[in-house]
Amino acid sequence: MSLTYDIEADWELLTTCNFRCPYCFVPLSALAAKLTTHGTNAQWVEGFAPTRKRWLLHISGGEPSIYPGFIDLCEKLTQLHYLSINSNLAHRSIETFAERINPERIHFINASLHYYERSNKHSLHDFVARVQKLRVRRFCVFVSSVMTPLLLRHFPEISKHFESQGLFLIPKMIRGWFQGKIYPRCILRRRKVSHTRIFSKGTTRLCFHHSRNGRTSNNQYVR
Ligand code: SF4
Repeated sequence: MSLTYDIEADWELLTTCNFRCPYCFVPLSALAAKLTTHGTNAQWVEGFAPTRKRWLLHISGGEPSIYPGFIDLCEKLTQLHYLSINSNLAHRSIETFAERINPERIHFINASLHYYERSNKHSLHDFVARVQKLRVRRFCVFVSSVMTPLLLRHFPEISKHFESQGLFLIPKMIRGWFQGKIYPRCILRRRKVSHTRIFSKGTTRLCFHHSRNGRTSNNQYVR
């Protein structure tokens, strides 16, 4: 997709999330924070107007799809600006998003799988159906997965399962403290062979890195 814009920025719209991934860099108290808006959607859009610039805004959180009035905010912003969205796709507002937002104003959607979190509380079926719906509506959707040690162990069968449904899982490197260890340092040391094999597979398409600021080594943005 060819986009013409003046300024690119990350926008952490909220910290609240409907998941509790154990590797999340957002503190638990912030994930559980009451949904708060710091302005109306119209005020947010008006806030960009004085810049007289077209923005590419990478919206993440927390989970942006649970933000009150999220679809209306996207509709208003995309009249002039471009967006990309990082989402776990676990809220039904994503379906309204697919129906109402112009895909030509969305650079990409990074759909974060969070396999084990989802298997416990949320439907994997809904995730696949929402990715497929977004793609039918011509959105560019990447499906990524944070590589915990458990996921790394089962990645071949899990990724095969999703590939059979048309979803290619992009491995996303875990970073920071997780279960008393610092990642990715320890995983690289202990599992060099399998890690290299799996990540080289991902790199042939696109390899995301799970970092605090969300910026990846190849300048894509992910949660
Ligand atoms: S990693 Fe993403 S989906 Fe998981 S708790 Fe954190 S913000 Fe939510």
